[in-house]
Amino acid sequence: MSTYRQFHARSLQQPEAFWREQSALVDWQEPVQRVLDASRPPFARWFTGGRTNLCHNAVDRHLPARADQPALIYVSTETKTEKTYTFAELHREVNRYAAVLKALGTERGDRVLIYMPMIPEAIFAMLASVRIGAIHSVVFGGFASHSLATRIDDARPRIIVSADAGSRSGKTVPYKGLLDQAIALASHAPEHVLMVDRGLAPMPMTPGRDLDCAAQVRQHWDAKVDCVWLESNEPSYILYTSGTTGRPKGVQRDTGGYAVALAASMKHVFGGEAGGTYFSTSDIGWVVGHSYIVYGPLIAGMATVVYEGTPIRPDGAIWWRIIEQYRVNIMFSAPTAIRVLKKQDPALLRRHDLSSLQALFLAGEPLDEPTARWISEGLGKPVVDNYWQTETGWPIIATPRGVEALPAKFGSPGVACYGYDVRLYDEITGAEVGNNTKGVVAIAGPLPPGCMSTIWGDDERFVNTYWHSVPGRSVYSTFDWGIRDDDGYFFILGRTDDVINVAGHRLGTREIEESISSHAGIAEVAVVGIADALKGQVAIAFAVARDPGAVTDAAQRAAMEGEILKLVDSQLGAVARPSRVHFVGVLPKTRSGKLLRRTIQAICEGREAGDLTTIEDASALDQIRQALATKV
Ligand code: AMP
Repeated sequence: MSTYRQFHARSLQQPEAFWREQSALVDWQEPVQRVLDASRPPFARWFTGGRTNLCHNAVDRHLPARADQPALIYVSTETKTEKTYTFAELHREVNRYAAVLKALGTERGDRVLIYMPMIPEAIFAMLASVRIGAIHSVVFGGFASHSLATRIDDARPRIIVSADAGSRSGKTVPYKGLLDQAIALASHAPEHVLMVDRGLAPMPMTPGRDLDCAAQVRQHWDAKVDCVWLESNEPSYILYTSGTTGRPKGVQRDTGGYAVALAASMKHVFGGEAGGTYFSTSDIGWVVGHSYIVYGPLIAGMATVVYEGTPIRPDGAIWWRIIEQYRVNIMFSAPTAIRVLKKQDPALLRRHDLSSLQALFLAGEPLDEPTARWISEGLGKPVVDNYWQTETGWPIIATPRGVEALPAKFGSPGVACYGYDVRLYDEITGAEVGNNTKGVVAIAGPLPPGCMSTIWGDDERFVNTYWHSVPGRSVYSTFDWGIRDDDGYFFILGRTDDVINVAGHRLGTREIEESISSHAGIAEVAVVGIADALKGQVAIAFAVARDPGAVTDAAQRAAMEGEILKLVDSQLGAVARPSRVHFVGVLPKTRSGKLLRRTIQAICEGREAGDLTTIEDASALDQIRQALATKV
């Protein structure tokens, strides 16, 4: 048995011994009494009795060894700002913010809602919040007032921290108006709104409620605020994520389990070393931002790069320039970003010295083989796909390089991570399926440390949504399809809730997309199932050509469509062949890069497009409509 297989087996067979060892990776103010309390399944309580603090582990405990080393490296290509904070400086800032929060009445267990762009102040506010035992809820800066209001009403924050504006591709995105609208829409009213003024946009202040953050911070310039030691299972944050219903779910995270899970993942999955530098291109509004911009790297004693900007401004080499300049060791991004870069000159990948970089990690959506090959060959570095969810907080499936250099397989994020008992089930019968058979990816409880403890304020919804979806089983459903090969590698085949059914055959839109995107002329594609009187559903594809000039006239489009259909026929069989392939310049996506398949599907079926608050580029929808209206 390989080293990793033994490691994984032990994590499941002797979870208490395994996780007790991992728990030594973080500081405890009071020792853990019991590693796992699984007496009330499916709830798992990790490290009960132990007292710790996320901010202490991310900041204070590094002061003796690395006070003057970089902790937070801020790069904004939007405002042309670069600033590095050492651990000592980060500590000072966080103490000031903690003092401000306390002075405004924030207490242990209170919620602090953070609605901010990618600026250091957002991270100070997060760390300050957990320092004093408050619970933060970061809401992605791109959400508009309706989404924000729903979250305000669910989390009921005492304080909201925000800023005048974000900036995207050089365009100011004002926040304050949206925030005021959201507060007006919400039935819960925060006591105070702390505003960071970047000088980008007007921020009308409501007297008594709204406060200028810098002025508040100045009043607590030399403040020292002790960490509040929380019992391991006390919540650290709430992060909202969408499900199949319109109502977002507040994923609740604990404190000790999360600290240990992240520290362990930095070591075993990412191979990160204290003193190194980590660059995740995500946003603090998403789970990757929480785990691998803020807490993971800092807990590991690494500097974290906080980036505001796009991958292609001022040019497509910006990320590689950052790697060279700050000697980044580990980079984390998403396949969409790589596909954006794929449209740029490949020479840009070679312009900078990338010798410090150990590996590029990609997650959040399926990594198609052509993109994986393009970037790994272009960079000459290992590209590590990893699969997880907001709910789990850290990878479920990966190739944990810190334990053993397992070979990568294109199209697969890897094997089950330690601590996860990943299984595949038949969706209808609930029977466990063996290797090489498609099933619902599920995790047998207890979930390992770091995963969601519950849905904020709604234990019942947590149990019903996640644990009762596989017939006859009480296992955690990921709502993804997957398949496992004989080597234990999983392949993720799309969401169970995006399944399409063509003439009684169930197909993953993801499988068809992968097939189409293996066509050399295609940069990206979305496949949706739409209602069909004869077959129940048919698949329709919307493709983005790598060279828009190649699909300008009808004859070119017809030829390319023909090639694609043949390709799908040959790879998957005629059953999976889309009824049409339309060409568009851009696909509708959320700002985090997820394809809005349901929206495309709705447009195709002549329905309302639904909630579009997270859409990256609304004109993409018009392109879908136009494509549908064009015969060829
Ligand atoms: P989120 O909670 O927004 O991170 O979305 C989680 C979902 O994204 C998963 O349930 C998968 O459908 C998808 N996902 C995340 N990572 C991967 C990956 N590496 N490969 C395939 N799908 C992924």
